Amino acid sequence: MTVESIFHRLEALLPKVQKPIQYVGGELNSTIKDWDSADVRWALMYPDAYEVGLPNQGVAILYEILNELPGTLAERTYAVWPDLEALMRAEGVPQFTVDAHRPVRAFDVLGISFSTELGYTNMLTALDLAGIPLLAADRGEDDPIVLAGGHAAFNPEPIADFLDAAVLGDGEQISIAITEVIREWKAEGSPGGRDELLMRLAESGGVYVPKFYDVEYHDDGRIKRVAPNRPDVPWRVHKHTVMDLDEWPYPKKPLVPLAETVHERFSVEIFRGCTRGCRFCQAGMITRPVRERSITTIGAMVENGIKQSGFNEVGLLSLSSADHSEIADVAKGLADQYEGTNTSLSLPSTRVDAFNIDLANEFSRNGRRSGLTFAPEGGSERMRKVINKMVTEEDLIRTVTTAYSQGWRQVKLYFMCGLPTEQDEDVLGIADLAKKVIKAGREATGSRDIRCTVSIGGFVPKPHTPFQWAAQTDHETVDRRLKALRDALRSDKAYGRAIGYRYHDGKPSIVEGLLSRGDRRIGAVIRNVWEDGGRFDGWSEHFSYERWMAAAEKAGVDVDWYTTREREENEVLPWDHLDAGLDREWLWQDWQDAVSGGEVEDCRWTPCYDCGVCPTMGTEIQIGPTGRKLLPLTVV
Ligand code: SF4
Repeated sequence: MTVESIFHRLEALLPKVQKPIQYVGGELNSTIKDWDSADVRWALMYPDAYEVGLPNQGVAILYEILNELPGTLAERTYAVWPDLEALMRAEGVPQFTVDAHRPVRAFDVLGISFSTELGYTNMLTALDLAGIPLLAADRGEDDPIVLAGGHAAFNPEPIADFLDAAVLGDGEQISIAITEVIREWKAEGSPGGRDELLMRLAESGGVYVPKFYDVEYHDDGRIKRVAPNRPDVPWRVHKHTVMDLDEWPYPKKPLVPLAETVHERFSVEIFRGCTRGCRFCQAGMITRPVRERSITTIGAMVENGIKQSGFNEVGLLSLSSADHSEIADVAKGLADQYEGTNTSLSLPSTRVDAFNIDLANEFSRNGRRSGLTFAPEGGSERMRKVINKMVTEEDLIRTVTTAYSQGWRQVKLYFMCGLPTEQDEDVLGIADLAKKVIKAGREATGSRDIRCTVSIGGFVPKPHTPFQWAAQTDHETVDRRLKALRDALRSDKAYGRAIGYRYHDGKPSIVEGLLSRGDRRIGAVIRNVWEDGGRFDGWSEHFSYERWMAAAEKAGVDVDWYTTREREENEVLPWDHLDAGLDREWLWQDWQDAVSGGEVEDCRWTPCYDCGVCPTMGTEIQIGPTGRKLLPLTVV
């Protein structure tokens, strides 16, 4: 049965809301397929505003891949702002997709990509507006399968009650596999209803269905065990890893937004995974091993992406882009190709030690010298050793001086506050470092016209990292150190105006910590917050710490127990049955090494140190150089 567009009902509301253009769709390269031409239909959601959600690579890639599949369609939906939410409720307009403005409840799957846990309340708004029961247990045969993915899905336990399923890791292949399971089940006449469909997904071993697992607790609140409650459901669910990125050169048709968004550029992921071993970095740990995209595929993707989109900026994306084994050739090849045009290159994330003068030159050749960001993360050498981010002060100063002398005027340094074992002097060390950076930069350039911005946020221990057992630092301590750092930065008039300071206070990090390492009992807190009006928790103007604390109290949840408590080695962690490939003993040993000063090398260039991922997942480190060049180039 054809599902009608709700646009005529939405249209009447749009003059009354802010930025109505974000709800109208019609972007260049968006796809609308005939509803009846498909038998499996996905609504893909990024649970934040359109301006944040549209550039999200994960959603964009799945949107294309699923729409390329015969008999399958995919549309996008985003979180609506509270002004539109109120009008939709008043007028009975349901959560809709921006492509064909179809009601989300009509789809087979609502796939939600969580980059951060702070999108959980927006998921509840979308479910409620869609007319989908909030609790998975209350859903019926006509409701979509609500499926979570993205990095936060590596511990989906806090939202387990609201989810039908979750997938861990790379989405390309598993989204196709899920589509085929649904197609087959529907073709058979949907035997056994949604319960059997979920069972088929769970049995595959690649999809986590929370309701097929029971959690038992000790009297003191710790988890006793998590066990499947059906015979054919696996004890552990594994993550997915795409091994050949060249086979998946998406996005091929990048979406070009009509409304303003946070990034307006064509982004190419140049590799996936990172084995640098930074102990705080969940993204690095859960995306292992490193898999590079070849230089030729990068070149072809850039050429095609620019042609298809008209963007004039290319972002070379990854967790640490300068680490690509052929980054110098990639940068030179692209800079040559786009010489004389207005297409510029950017490296959104750069390690201090991987940046060099040649790269700096290539990246500034065709365009703006927009700000550079480096992330030493820890303010003292001791701190950087604890987190295994071995950047020396000399490295940092040399790198930043290079950037200044190549014409950059603005450098941003990113740090974290509240890291394990941190003392006040580790944070105050950031002020000394920033002053040394400015001093060296002034000497190298002979100019006082240079700036350095110190940006610092609270550290949150994350699942599947060596710090998963660590006590999170309370927000009072974090805030006190952040204020002391501000005073130290401002105390010296010689540097006052050259050093900017941006910080996020410690309270949101505590909520993020609660959601990151929480278990199923946190679901009640999320629901209480949402019922109390909690929306857009990632936005400081909407976030309310007091609301979260009141919600936790109402649910009988002790926030400190989940956040500032250090865990014992043998405590069952809420995500232990979800397998990112990392060996638990290795993670524990790395946590012990962090405290005792042990370092880990990068297994790209040193022998494997048995973190567990490759043998468990059947993967391997995959890096160049391939020896191939980006050439022959097409003249632009
Ligand atoms: S198993 Fe070895 S090679 Fe693979 S990511 Fe871990 S340390 Fe590196």
